[in-house]
Amino acid sequence: MSPYGDPAHQGTGHSHADPGDGHLGLDQAFTSAGPSGPAAHAGWEAPPPRKGFFTDTSICIGCKACEVACKEWNGVPQDGIYELLGSSYDNTGALGASTWRHVEFIEQRKPLGNQDNGITIGVPETVLGPDVSLKEMVEGNPLDALRLAQGPGQGAQGMVDLGMPAFDLPSASPDAGERTDFRWLMASNVCKHCTNAGCLDVCPTGALFRTEFGTVVVQDDICNGCGYCVAGCPFGVIDRRIGEKAPLFGHSDKPTTKNAGIAQKCTLCYDRLLDDQVPACAKACPTQSIQFGDVDELRERAEKRVADLQAAGVMNAQLYAEDPEGGVGGAGAFFLLLDEPEVYGFPPDPIVTTADLPRMWKHAGLAALGLLAAAAVAFTGARR
Ligand code: SF4
Ligand code: SF4
Repeated sequence: MSPYGDPAHQGTGHSHADPGDGHLGLDQAFTSAGPSGPAAHAGWEAPPPRKGFFTDTSICIGCKACEVACKEWNGVPQDGIYELLGSSYDNTGALGASTWRHVEFIEQRKPLGNQDNGITIGVPETVLGPDVSLKEMVEGNPLDALRLAQGPGQGAQGMVDLGMPAFDLPSASPDAGERTDFRWLMASNVCKHCTNAGCLDVCPTGALFRTEFGTVVVQDDICNGCGYCVAGCPFGVIDRRIGEKAPLFGHSDKPTTKNAGIAQKCTLCYDRLLDDQVPACAKACPTQSIQFGDVDELRERAEKRVADLQAAGVMNAQLYAEDPEGGVGGAGAFFLLLDEPEVYGFPPDPIVTTADLPRMWKHAGLAALGLLAAAAVAFTGARR
C-alpha cells in the first residue's frame, strides 16, 4: 500500500450542521476567511474539519481518469474529446465550464530532477541487482539490462518478459540532439476552493456559497449568468457554459446544453461529501496524485513530501497555494509542483481580487461624507 493509505477509506467524517446567523462586519464583508476557518466564518455552527485536495504532481501519469470521473459523476458535457490540440497530447486545453478537472501536459527540454534519463524511472535498484550499473543500463538496451538482471540471484523475482515492444533511449538515435533532455510535467488542475474566494465575494445573487466543509459551490438554479465571478477568480477557474439554452416554456427542436449560460466549476463533489464519499476524481486517480482529506493533515503531508523530494535532489519541488499567509489565504486545493508555477500556467502570486474592496469602500464612504458636508455648507450658506 502507498504511504498515503487507501483512498477507498478516506471518509469525510463530517457531521451535518446548519448555517447560523453569523454576521460579518464591514472589514470582513468581502473576505470569506476567518480565524476558525472559512466555514465557521460563513456562519456554520460547529462545522466538520475543512476538506480539500493535495495534488502531488510528481506522481501524476497524465491518464486523465480524474477528468473522466468528474464528467461521469457530475454529468458535465463533453468538450473536445476527439480533438488533440496540437501543442501536446491534450484534448481539453484548460479548466472551464465543462472541464472541472484538467490535466496539464507540459513538455520541457529539461532532464527530470537529478535523474539521468526518464528511462530509469520505475526500475528499482532491487530489480536491477547489484551487478547491473545504471551506466550499463542507460548505454545499452534497457530491456537487455533488465533481462540480464533477471539472472539467478539478481533479485529479479516477479519480472516476466511480456513480449512488449522494445524501444531505445532518445540518445540512441544519431540525430537525437536536445531530445535527450526532455521531461513531461503533468498536473491535474482544479478549483482551489480558496479561503478568500473572489468568486464568492462578488456574486450578487448568493448562487455561490461556502459549504460546511469550507468548499465553494455554485447553485445552478440561483445563478443568473452575470459573470461577475468569472472576473473575480484570480486563477481563471470559473466560467459560464456555452451552448443553446433550454426554453423556459415548451420544447425546442434544437439540441440544448445543460446549464448553458450558468457559471460552472468543481463543487469538490459536495453531494458525495454529504454522503461521506471521497470526491469522484480522487477516487479514480490510480496513483494517488490527487489526495483528498482534512486540509490541515494534507498540509503536513505535503510539507513532508516536498522535503523528501528536495532531499532526493529535486530542488525545484515546491508547494503552490497552500500558504495561509498567501494572497488567497491558503487554498483548500493546493499542489506540489516540480517547477515554477508559471511553467504550469498558474499565476505565480495569486491575490484575491476583492482584497482592496474594504479599503475602497471606506474611501468611497469618506468621499460621500465629504460631498454631503460640502452640499450642506453650500445649502446653509445660500440661505443666509
Ligand atoms: S479558484 Fe476561483 S472559482 Fe475556485 S474558489 Fe477560488 S476564486 Fe472561486
Ligand atoms: S471534486 Fe468532484 S466536481 Fe471537483 S473536480 Fe473532482 S470530481 Fe469534479
